[in-house]
Amino acid sequence: MTMPAVVLTAHGRIALQDRPRPTLRPDQVLVEVDLCGICGSDLHASQLPQVYRGDCILGHESTGRVAAVGDDVADWAAGQRVAVNPNGNVDGTCVYCRAGRPNFCRQATLETALGLQADGALAPLMSAFPGHLRRIPDELGTLEAAWVEPTATALRAVELAGELAGRTVLVTGGGPIGQLACRLAHLRSPAQILLMEPAAQRAQFATDSHAVSIAADAAEDYARGLEVDVVLECSGSAAATSTALKLLTPGGILVVVGAGPDPALDSATILLKEITVRGSYIYTDEFDRAIHLLATQQIAVADLTTAISPLPDALTAFDALRAGQIMKALIAPLLAT
Ligand SMILES: [Zn+2]
Repeated sequence: MTMPAVVLTAHGRIALQDRPRPTLRPDQVLVEVDLCGICGSDLHASQLPQVYRGDCILGHESTGRVAAVGDDVADWAAGQRVAVNPNGNVDGTCVYCRAGRPNFCRQATLETALGLQADGALAPLMSAFPGHLRRIPDELGTLEAAWVEPTATALRAVELAGELAGRTVLVTGGGPIGQLACRLAHLRSPAQILLMEPAAQRAQFATDSHAVSIAADAAEDYARGLEVDVVLECSGSAAATSTALKLLTPGGILVVVGAGPDPALDSATILLKEITVRGSYIYTDEFDRAIHLLATQQIAVADLTTAISPLPDALTAFDALRAGQIMKALIAPLLAT
């Protein structure tokens, strides 16, 4: 029996292929995938061989229902709704797991990471370890459940920025992570949130994300003496990072959650202004808090969802995302075409 799936091929192409349906292992469950988001890093998967394995099904932002449970798996039953934490199969034995830092666990974040090096959720059916699954409450809609993973990523970045009350926050990059960062920052009563995003299609979400849009070079803002206390760098763009460093106040903090080929982290500026630079890598317990924030509607995501498409339309969605034409595409693998 085969099933359609979106695959990163061994040659680094993204393709729709027929793959064998996963068989149930005694230590795993099978999940029927209701929705799976396409992540910005999926678009560049072939350029990230240290993270993504070729000949693997993509998709790490998913929600679905337990379809079958292996004989050795306790506490799970068919039909239960889940949000899937792709990095959630924490082995608990490595030095990072034991230190409560599972986002550095090699097994969890690479070897068993769904949609990276283990087959992911851009397919109707996915194998997962129980450690990947989080139960979700009835009040969390399926659409919102598909946003748990990116919300957790943005939440960690916002929390690593420290106190935001009364501060001026600049978010660089207005894709899904940037918009979520604005919305999560807003919950912490900042004085102002500024969003720097060159693509009009994405910048137009600023108001709904409680932010004021500023120009990509921020020339006017710089000229009028604008200073920001915190930057959440969500673009991976060298130009944005460079502008952000200029706008940061002495003693300010730059949280890096986007990555690009040219980092533009100017050491002289960092030194002269005593800027704190912090990386933010995936999430740990932020995943569970993201479920709560979405279930209690403290964070809205429906308006950020551009389209829900069946699996064969995923390749078109990849192209539209690469061109920056849409905000977020969710794929519904069980949706009939
Ligand atoms: Zn570990």
